[in-house]
Amino acid sequence: MKLFDSHCHINFDAFQRDREAVMQQAEQQGVKRLFVPGVTRQLSSDKDWINDCPPVEIIEGYGLHPYFIDEHQASDIEWLAQQLDKFPHAVVGEIGLDSQVGNYQKQYELFTAQVDLAVAFKRAVVLHHRKTQPELLRVLKPLRDKLPEVPGVIHAFSGSVEQANEWTKLGFMLGVGGTITYSRANKTRQAIQQADIHHLVLETDAPDMPLNGYQGQRNEPAQCFGVLKALSELREEPIEQLGDIIWNNTCRLFEQFTQ
Ligand SMILES: [Zn+2]
Repeated sequence: MKLFDSHCHINFDAFQRDREAVMQQAEQQGVKRLFVPGVTRQLSSDKDWINDCPPVEIIEGYGLHPYFIDEHQASDIEWLAQQLDKFPHAVVGEIGLDSQVGNYQKQYELFTAQVDLAVAFKRAVVLHHRKTQPELLRVLKPLRDKLPEVPGVIHAFSGSVEQANEWTKLGFMLGVGGTITYSRANKTRQAIQQADIHHLVLETDAPDMPLNGYQGQRNEPAQCFGVLKALSELREEPIEQLGDIIWNNTCRLFEQFTQ
């Protein structure tokens, strides 16, 4: 069975010391493809880490993440447009709105500028949210027809059945990660249990979001299998069958890039 980690920050310093071993372990657990979101111009410009990554196929996105709001310059939008031009299949992300970090106005301006680029280049978006799903939906809903068939993914989805439906109705994928391994995440577990299986993708968000039982430790892409196992238990569906469908979903999300 092949696994596709749809969201992993393997280029972060947390993996500087042993990235090669981490990737080998992930591959042994079935991870064959891995999406690395773009978060800043600076980090996207450094490509040395890719040498540590065979035999896993890496797919890179380009975006300006709200966490790094103070680092982003207005000229980075132009840089992003150049990257999208240069890499004809790259998705836009990780982008979004976060209610817990500063300068919401600048976040909003950068987010909408990046959505405009996604529309102009007809690329899917990888969305970061924290208590901002209504705002993200408000921006994206009217643009639905201008985005690709799979318009993107709501990374680390958390929320109710109704919220999940809002996204899947628009064609978005829901990013399923470590959250479903915590029994206290009742609402999200229920939403993921009931969601259309053709709208689910797996993600670790490594080095963040450790699974239940691994709190305080660095998360790793090999845990993609642990997420799939938890999902299989939650949905009471056979792991192999689930794995195959989700692999296909993820290839649809990053479709043109992986052909
Ligand atoms: Zn992320």
